[in-house]
Amino acid sequence: MLVLEYKVKGRQQQYRAIDQAIRTTQFIRNKAIRYWMDAPREAKIDKIALNNYSTALRKEFGFVKDLNSMACQAATERAWLSITRFYDNCKSNKPGKKGFPKFQKDNRSVEYKTSGWSLHLTKRRITFTDKKGIGQVKLLGKWDIHTYPVKCIKRVRLVRKADGYYCQFAIDVEVKSVQRTGNGEIGLDVGLEYFYSDSNGHHEENPRFLRKAEKAIKHAQRQIYKKEKGKNQRRIARHRYAKKHLRVSRQRNEHALRLARCVCKANALVAYENLNVKGMVRNHCLAKSINDVAWTLFRRWLEYFAAKFNTQVVAVNPKMTSQKCSDCGAIVKKSLSTRTHKCSCGCQLHRDVNAAINILNLARQARDGQSRSNAVGVGTSTLLGATLVEQVAM
Ligand SMILES: [Zn+2]
Repeated sequence: MLVLEYKVKGRQQQYRAIDQAIRTTQFIRNKAIRYWMDAPREAKIDKIALNNYSTALRKEFGFVKDLNSMACQAATERAWLSITRFYDNCKSNKPGKKGFPKFQKDNRSVEYKTSGWSLHLTKRRITFTDKKGIGQVKLLGKWDIHTYPVKCIKRVRLVRKADGYYCQFAIDVEVKSVQRTGNGEIGLDVGLEYFYSDSNGHHEENPRFLRKAEKAIKHAQRQIYKKEKGKNQRRIARHRYAKKHLRVSRQRNEHALRLARCVCKANALVAYENLNVKGMVRNHCLAKSINDVAWTLFRRWLEYFAAKFNTQVVAVNPKMTSQKCSDCGAIVKKSLSTRTHKCSCGCQLHRDVNAAINILNLARQARDGQSRSNAVGVGTSTLLGATLVEQVAM
C-alpha cells in the first residue's frame, strides 16, 4: 500500500464541511463503542454487527446519513479495530494495561473508501459527492495521482493538521523491489555525540536544525501556559506551538528516512543495538531525549527499507558493546566521558566506533553461528569498510 499526500485548498466553508465530516466519523465510532459496551453478554458483537449498526445510525440521525455510507462503515471499522486490539491483548495476556477501547475526543480525520468522491480527469482536483457539502477542492503536491488507475485507490482520507487540511490516497500497488547498490555489512552505534557511529569509522552528525527547532518548540510551549486559560491569546499560542511541532516532526522524519534508505541501499547486513527506547525516553537530559525520538524513527525506517532492498537488519543486545575491545575481546572499563577506546593489545578507536564493530560482530555471530564468525572476524570488516566508503559517498 502506497500513500500519497496532498495539501487541500478550498474555501473556509468547505473546511467547515470537512470538520463536520470528521466530527461525524468520531460520533459514529464512539456510538459503536458504546453499542459494544452496552450489548448483553450473549449478543455477539462483531464487525458485521457494527456495520449493521452504522446503517441504523444513518436512519436515526440526519447528519450521519449525509456522510457517504462507506465512510460510515469505515468509522465503525475503526471502533472494531480498537475492540479487536483489546481482545488480542487480553488473549495474549499482555502485561500491563490491556487497552480497553476509549471514547475519542480529538479525531482528526475522515476516511472514504471507493465511493463518495471523484477525481477530476485532468486537473488535480477531487470532488466529494456525499451530502456533507465539501464539494470540489484543489490538491497541492508534487505527486501525480493520475499515473495510478482509479480502481487502485482503495481509501481517500481527509486529515486536519495544525497547518491546514490534507488529502491522503491509499493506493494498492506492488512496491517495486529496488536494486541494492552494495553488499556491505555495517554496525551502528547510537550516541549523544553523533547521530550514529558506524563500524567503518564514519560518524553521522546530529542534525543541527533539530536542536535549534527543539529550542523554539520549548519556547512556544511555555508561551501557552503564560496566557490565560480560555482566552483567544492562548488558542493562538497553542496553534503556533502545534505548527512548530508539526514542522520539526516532518524534518526529523525526512532526515531519518534519508539516512535509513542510504544505509539499507548499500548494505546486505545492518546491525544495531536493541535499545529499550521506551525506558530511555524517560530521562531529563534534553539532548538525549531528542536523540531517542529520532533514533526510534530511524529504526522504523531501517526496517521499512530493509524489506525494500532485501537487506538483513539485526538488533543485538547492547550489553558490554562499549566496554569490550573489538580487536582482542578484552574488557576495557571506561566511563561515559571517556571518548577513546585504548586497549593493551594496541587497538585504539573512537569509543562509539569500537562499539559499532562489536555490534556488527555480534550480528554476524547470530547469523553464522559462533565458530564461523570467529574465523572471519576483523579481516573482512576492514576489507568491507574500504568498499563501503565509496558506496556511501555515491
Ligand atoms: Zn584489545
